[in-house]
Amino acid sequence: MKNPFLRSFLGIAVILIAFASSVPSEALATPAPEHSLPSSSGDPLLPSAEVLLDAGHGGIDGGTFEGTILEKDINLQVALLLRKELKARKIDCVLNRVGDYALSEENRWQRTRSRHLRDLGQRYGLTSVLEPSAVVSLHVNWARRPSRKGPIVLYQPNNPKSLILARVLQESLNRSAGTHLAPFPGKTYYLLKRINAPTVIVEMGFLSNPSDRARLTDPAEQKKIAEALASAISGYLLLERCLPDS
Ligand SMILES: [Zn+2]
Repeated sequence: MKNPFLRSFLGIAVILIAFASSVPSEALATPAPEHSLPSSSGDPLLPSAEVLLDAGHGGIDGGTFEGTILEKDINLQVALLLRKELKARKIDCVLNRVGDYALSEENRWQRTRSRHLRDLGQRYGLTSVLEPSAVVSLHVNWARRPSRKGPIVLYQPNNPKSLILARVLQESLNRSAGTHLAPFPGKTYYLLKRINAPTVIVEMGFLSNPSDRARLTDPAEQKKIAEALASAISGYLLLERCLPDS
């Protein structure tokens, strides 16, 4: 790693991970806003959020699947649990899909016949309004080889904060799943390429692997995944306040 800035960021991140794992989650909670937060643009009429949760796919777009199990349902189930966990930690967050529908259906403003582009436009548009400190997009993986397993966090290659967020999340998910995987640069993903806010795609596990599939579809295990994500996000937000603007 040649970039000295990035190296010192990561040094701080490692310290924070150690700190986050030794401190109870209540102690990591950010102070509760007494009133609704003003938007980062300064306009009180515009909403804002520290964290934007993106529940991948929805409606006609089921994402990946195995038999009758659809990725979009798992993404939404974990996203709803994660929102609850973040709220319990007094973290201001917005979830962009709260039911089984396609975000492209909500997008009536974009002049394109492509449902996929309208879907991406809607997800992207929300981040420019909210200006969050972090965007976490939840997904589920699939591989031809059934032995491939475990969570993988994808980050924006040119955004040091995205890499730190990915490392903190990956570490927490590894602890929860008993894996030792590393985050991965997600070069080809539209959201990672276009969003300025630190953004990661969390592939929570492989539907094609029997043990991952069992974890991803069990409500108690989904709660554990949501807890691992929430404690990592909480740790990242503490750290993010100490980082220079990139
Ligand atoms: Zn997906």
